[in-house]
Amino acid sequence: MIRNLIFCFKFYPKGMLRAMLWEMFHAFLLAAPSGILLAIIWELFRESPREAFIWQVIAAMGAMFILQLYVAQKAMVQSQIGVIRIATALRVAVGNKLQRLSLGYYKKRDPGELASVALQDVNNFEQIFGHSLSNLATAVFGTVVLAVFLVVLDWRLGLTLLGALLFVLPLAQFGQWLVRKYGARAIGARTDTNARLLEYFQGMPHLKSFGMIGASFGTLDDALRNLRTTSIRTEAIPGPVILTAGVVLELFFVLMVWLGLFLLSGGELKIPVMVAFLILGYRLYEPLKISMVEYGVLSYMNVSLERIISLLKAEEQSAGQDAHPSTYDVELDRVTFGYAPERNVLENVSLTARAGEMTALVGPSGSGKTTITSLIARFWDIEEGAIRIGGVDLRNMSTDTVYGIISEVFQEVYLFDGTIYENILVGNPDASPERVRWAAEKAQLTEFTDRMEGGLQTRVGEGGNRLSGGQKQRVSIARALLKDAPIVLLDEATSSLDPENEIYIQRAIQSLVKNKTVIVIAHRLSTISNADQIVVLQDKAVAEAGSHADLMSREGIYHRMWTLQDQASAWEVGAAKSGEHEDSVEAGKLH
Ligand code: ADP
Ligand code: MG
Repeated sequence: MIRNLIFCFKFYPKGMLRAMLWEMFHAFLLAAPSGILLAIIWELFRESPREAFIWQVIAAMGAMFILQLYVAQKAMVQSQIGVIRIATALRVAVGNKLQRLSLGYYKKRDPGELASVALQDVNNFEQIFGHSLSNLATAVFGTVVLAVFLVVLDWRLGLTLLGALLFVLPLAQFGQWLVRKYGARAIGARTDTNARLLEYFQGMPHLKSFGMIGASFGTLDDALRNLRTTSIRTEAIPGPVILTAGVVLELFFVLMVWLGLFLLSGGELKIPVMVAFLILGYRLYEPLKISMVEYGVLSYMNVSLERIISLLKAEEQSAGQDAHPSTYDVELDRVTFGYAPERNVLENVSLTARAGEMTALVGPSGSGKTTITSLIARFWDIEEGAIRIGGVDLRNMSTDTVYGIISEVFQEVYLFDGTIYENILVGNPDASPERVRWAAEKAQLTEFTDRMEGGLQTRVGEGGNRLSGGQKQRVSIARALLKDAPIVLLDEATSSLDPENEIYIQRAIQSLVKNKTVIVIAHRLSTISNADQIVVLQDKAVAEAGSHADLMSREGIYHRMWTLQDQASAWEVGAAKSGEHEDSVEAGKLH
């Protein structure tokens, strides 16, 4: 935990140092009245107490009290500022980190989990630490000041009191271990509940239409139940440990009193010292007890902190040197890749997509076509083989460079809530209005926007839900046109388009792909028969590659696919596969 706290302090070292100095001063002032009290006791035990002296001491005590109020406030404000600064820095760091992580990292996690680190864990830290830091600092420094004082006053009794630490510290450690264990479960359960809730809200329309409200409540219900159990355990299980520590402290106090009386009867201890220990000994344990409780709470916070730090330390995509290719052939060189260990999706795949040519990827659903395009866009890094653009290894380019030279048109287009114009502008925020208009025309967008009242300034609604699938895809083609990147990755729309949209999209694509390295995932063989190269994927590998004529004359799998499908209609056979519109050679055979 200390290491994690130091990690945080480094975000605002000067401020935290200042805060700690104030806290130390504060703790000292808190301990000071005890010293003064002692002076009074001492005086009272003299043969002839000097009254004036006692009054002076009391006045000093009053002054110190006022000073202490000021310092307490100052220390608290400084600590709070420090914590808020650190929390802000952590939020920024998490935000920046999220941008630099590979997209692959995102696909591996629940979005709910990431959101909970960015929002809740940092909040957890801010709340708990902001609240505890002052208390804890006062307690720790206060204990140290008093302990030193007591040991100097009488080392026998002082060390007896401190002996309690031998038992209390391990207990605190054990308590922390418990909090960590159960706290981690509770935080996990909370994250899970969030994810389920999110899922539940997002899926509401679907769930409703399938009458699944009850069933889906099931998983949410389990998550909530689990949250309750783990939360109760986090509170309840470490509790007794902390209580035990309290009892140990009491016992050691009794031990000290006993030893004191023993020494007193032997004449080895002065009465005022004994009285001082009776009063101050108790005060020594007060901050310790506070620390114990705060330590427990902090351990809980530490769980959040660990999640934040592990996110901040997650592997980033590296770019040893940020090289920029000058030509744009895309080459896969014996690429082997799997999302999970031991389960390869691609094995030894080699292919070259030349600049100025169109390369089509075909193959059954799940053969890895989309995976190949994701790898080229460096969403994931490969470990075996290499992917090169213009001879430069992808791993030697920053993701910014890679994104800069690649345009992608996905099957599923996400538009943000804004105008069509703004959505096109995403492709190149610096583009002039004329250029945007040009892209819209080339992408066959104006065909329908000109009929709309707002034209390109029409709002698309959240996620673009006021546009049809074909229209959305044309917006994404317009984006790509505006971006004008030398490499175009195209996941051709599956069967769901109406013929009219299809014609427009074909036209739009034709203007997009001129003079580019084009890699298209084809779902209809008819649209790619004039591709320069067709790569057929099957069983994790390239089954065959060549032009349409080559592949037809070879009479292999492509030839079979081609003859099997009804020439005129789309290669729309995936319906055989659990109703999704995906291509499938297997299904094709059945036809
Ligand atoms: P295609 O586009 O040819 O249909 P994909 O590249 O989408 O094939 O998928 C290839 C294989 O990889 C499939 O078995 C699929 O289940 C798996 N796969 C795809 N994406 C992921 C992912 N994000 N995590 C784990 N497995 C995945
Ligand atoms: Mg796919």
